[in-house]
Amino acid sequence: MNSVTSLALEPARWQVNDQGEIFSLTYGDVYASRHGAWSQAQSIFVDGCELPTRWMGSPCVRILETAFGLGVNFLATWASLKASASKARLQYIAIEKHPFTAQDLRTALQISLTTLPASLAPLVHELVERLITQWPPLISGFHSLPLDDQTTLTLVFGDIDAVLCSLHGRFDAVYLDGFAPDCNAGMWSSLVMKRLAELAAPGAIAATWCVTDTVQHALNEVGYTVNQQVGSARNHEFLTAHWPQKFIESQTLPASVVVIGAGIAGASVARQFASRGVSVTLIERDQPASGASGNPVAVVRPEPGGVDNMIAEFSAAGVGWLKRWLSVYGQSVPHDFCGAVRLLRDQRRHDKLAAYALTVPDEWLHELSNTDASTLCGQTVAADAFLLPQAGWVDPKALVAALIDHPLIDVKSNAEVTKLTRMSSDLWCVGFSNHEEIHTHHVVLATAFADLSPDVLGIDSARGQLSLLPERADKSLRAIVCRDGYITPAINGMHIIGATIQYDDLDANSRTEDDLENFHRLQRLLPEFVSDVNELRAGRVSWRGTTQDRLPLVGKIAEGLYASIGHGSRGVACAPWCAEFLATQIMNEPLPISATWVERLHPLRFSKSISPKS
Ligand SMILES: Cc1cc2nc3c(=O)[nH]c(=O)nc-3n(C[C@H](O)[C@H](O)[C@H](O)COP(=O)(O)OP(=O)(O)OC[C@H]3O[C@@H](n4cnc5c(N)ncnc54)[C@H](O)[C@@H]3O)c2cc1C
Repeated sequence: MNSVTSLALEPARWQVNDQGEIFSLTYGDVYASRHGAWSQAQSIFVDGCELPTRWMGSPCVRILETAFGLGVNFLATWASLKASASKARLQYIAIEKHPFTAQDLRTALQISLTTLPASLAPLVHELVERLITQWPPLISGFHSLPLDDQTTLTLVFGDIDAVLCSLHGRFDAVYLDGFAPDCNAGMWSSLVMKRLAELAAPGAIAATWCVTDTVQHALNEVGYTVNQQVGSARNHEFLTAHWPQKFIESQTLPASVVVIGAGIAGASVARQFASRGVSVTLIERDQPASGASGNPVAVVRPEPGGVDNMIAEFSAAGVGWLKRWLSVYGQSVPHDFCGAVRLLRDQRRHDKLAAYALTVPDEWLHELSNTDASTLCGQTVAADAFLLPQAGWVDPKALVAALIDHPLIDVKSNAEVTKLTRMSSDLWCVGFSNHEEIHTHHVVLATAFADLSPDVLGIDSARGQLSLLPERADKSLRAIVCRDGYITPAINGMHIIGATIQYDDLDANSRTEDDLENFHRLQRLLPEFVSDVNELRAGRVSWRGTTQDRLPLVGKIAEGLYASIGHGSRGVACAPWCAEFLATQIMNEPLPISATWVERLHPLRFSKSISPKS
């Protein structure tokens, strides 16, 4: 029997009790105090952690919450930031083992927020809508929500012990808001407190409604100075615990950055910096999106697989981020998350995925018979299949245009960088073909390949040709169909069929034999869709930067030099999220994924003589 470690979660089991409170059937405790969840969130967590002062004094406030529940604490925090005049970023990471489904979250929040002060109601109700629009599928792991230019919420679905060990970053505030210790002791264990101490930034404040001696002792033991306080909300006692100002974080945050290459990778990096208030010079030897990112359409799909499948985890993070980003900023970007029907190469792989599909929600993956898959697509598919409801397509060129549409991004087109030299320990010289130079402390390579940095090895060049098929009125296709290649529904009158892959092939002309190869690909997907190869038209040719492990190179190469390159066949789907991953590293923010990914994506991991830890 094939087995895959499941990503499935048990959603929150809840009901409204006789007192009108949201009650957890799993833990036998209430999610929110009957005395007013909102005022408790405000007085214990927002005020207790001195956030109104921090909003005005920090470029980024980093908050960790041990249990997200209904999200009332998060909403109160987000509303507090929005109501202030601060331009600070909010990086909020929340752990949750039993998340609500989106529908349950809406219902439960409507009940819980009845005590909201009338003056705040319009703002908070708007924030609730934004949160629910971006609410992720109930799959374990990290889900980052780019809620607005100031606020990123990363929900980590899983058990607190495992999640705390995987977090990377330091936090200015910690919200201890699990169910009571006698209902959920694991949330308050000394192991948890120890890890919370390791994750505390200098001067961090932890806050909790739980004032038991055991909790005070546990916080004291790991080095926090604990104060018992009386809140403004109905005189309830609560604790704040201060982490000493033991050391000062020395990292200087960049005020400006030079990004080389204006494909999807560079445009995404530029956008993530600009949204943090950093000025960006984005340099492109041609025009934005003139490399592989200039293809007419890209398929974006999470690769299905269990927790032991790196590509599955990576692509889920990428597609989830892109989908949510488009929900906020994608009005001008043609895209459609229409779902993809995935056929498997052989029976063994099919059976493995079928076993896995049984363990995850239908919104993530489900098996389809050949007949059901054909009905869903509107065309006969070649085999039994799986539906990936989170998959879709996007116009990459329009996506690049939307990403760089920001007042802090200055695009320099027709400017080829020919030399990158280190001038001192932290100053770089970017040299152009016309002999002009820019001197900068922070450079990001987003050139697809590593030509400008000889230290970076391991990227191959793989040519790819798309083929086009004009739409036919009697043969409509409603979903993407994919296997080792793909066909999209008709977009602007054309189906896109992709794509060939040829290593070390620099031929920029489209070739009829490549269309034939794509035709055979299509036959393996939809055997009755096209009978004559001559119906296909040659599509665009471009090059992917590929790596052996099919993961890109993203991270620090040297002091002040970083990369987001080698995005292979998934760059449109995943480079936008990689930009967030890189920006959090450079800006000293918590990572939107587990710490292991720093090494997994390290740009020097194929460079034998150089330690990835350097
Ligand atoms: C045929 C084909 C089909 C694909 N289909 C999909 C798909 O369906 N889904 C998906 O997610 N991905 C797909 N991909 C992959 C995806 O297109 C790439 O991973 C992605 O576009 C890479 O983006 P990038 O910004 O890293 O590179 P590019 O888009 O190539 O951008 C790099 C930019 O850097 C510039 N540059 C390079 N050197 C210099 C220099 N020295 N000075 C100044 N500028 C420089 C280049 O001009 C270029 O504009 C496909 C790729 C191909 C080839």
